[in-house]
Amino acid sequence: MIRPIERNVRDRVPFVDLAAQNAAHTDDVVEILRSLSNSSDWILGDEVSRFEADYAEYCGARFAIGTDSGLSALELTLRALGVGEGDEVLTAANTFIATALAISHTGAKPVLVDADPDRYTIDPNLLRDRITPRTRAIIPVHLYGQPAAMESILAVAQEHDLFVIEDACQAHGARYENRRTGALGHAAAFSFYPSKNLGAYGDGGIVVTSDEGLAQKLRVLRNYGQEQKYLHAVKGYNRRLDTLHAAILRMKLKRLDACNALRREHAEAYNRLLEGTDLVVPTVAGNVEPVWHLYVVRTERRDKLRAHLEERGIQTGIHYPIPVHLQPAYCELGCPLGSYPVSEMLAEQVLSLPMYPELDPKSVEYVAKAVAEFFRIGEER
Ligand SMILES: *Cc1c(COP(=O)(O)O)cnc(C)c1O
Repeated sequence: MIRPIERNVRDRVPFVDLAAQNAAHTDDVVEILRSLSNSSDWILGDEVSRFEADYAEYCGARFAIGTDSGLSALELTLRALGVGEGDEVLTAANTFIATALAISHTGAKPVLVDADPDRYTIDPNLLRDRITPRTRAIIPVHLYGQPAAMESILAVAQEHDLFVIEDACQAHGARYENRRTGALGHAAAFSFYPSKNLGAYGDGGIVVTSDEGLAQKLRVLRNYGQEQKYLHAVKGYNRRLDTLHAAILRMKLKRLDACNALRREHAEAYNRLLEGTDLVVPTVAGNVEPVWHLYVVRTERRDKLRAHLEERGIQTGIHYPIPVHLQPAYCELGCPLGSYPVSEMLAEQVLSLPMYPELDPKSVEYVAKAVAEFFRIGEER
């Protein structure tokens, strides 16, 4: 008989804990609000360009252009590069819907490519088969905080004269061969959705690039197509990053590396504690340093494991339960079940365990124990 692991009232492990993160920043945020209230510089204020400069430098790129979301950052980048109606853009079948939507919103067609079964990011070996004369760009997604196989992707892009736009919405600070995400392709899009590794107090995003012409186009596009006040060169949008968010993000950016280091400690602890169970733990390529936006494990008995953990007060997530090609919004792609076998397998098997910088190491142990208990009970039956 296996003795059930002991529970006490403290044994409730949320999936993320933004309140814990915010608590560390409350005084700074109040101060930012007070000072901005005085200046009332709410739209494209000085703090926006300061944060853009800091973030570009952090990534090792020349320019950054703040936007109102990660989706906008992706969409405006495609538009600024001239991608639109009649064009095709390759991206991962295994991603959050926003990557595909950004392509669709420009009028171009997303052409999905299956995932590498080990790293879960786009499989570069499958890219060439999907390239047509209409293909203009590739959007690799640094899923869960692990950079995609950029070297092979960039090689294919160069062969076919394609743009590479990183979807780095889950990978603030991650490194690929010592270079940060954001500086690996022609441009990169980041999201500051509150639960991302760098999160605003609402929606926000940014494009990072070292291409000066592209940066200038993006500044114009996000702000009504204005080159100067009331002179509208193109039919632009209102997709600006708020000054308030920029100021908060600039303050939080100083702590990003420390927060990512805590995530890495938790990931290493999970890896160690889960060894020997039947769970497939994340595979990290030798030349990358992931930032563990999510800690994602895999098992054929995912739904039962999830229920087992839930009963023990442990919240988990599924990223993502339905791949893009099987979403009702994308029935137009005409890709039935079976089109992307790796992405479909992942959708059935992946489970995201609690992961955030403020996670208590004791909670990591508690989660790992509960997982081990699940597999032992399974063996007994
Ligand atoms: C969060 C996310 C986005 C979209 O960012 P928003 O700020 O929510 O628009 C795009 N791609 C990926 C992979 C994401 O995780």
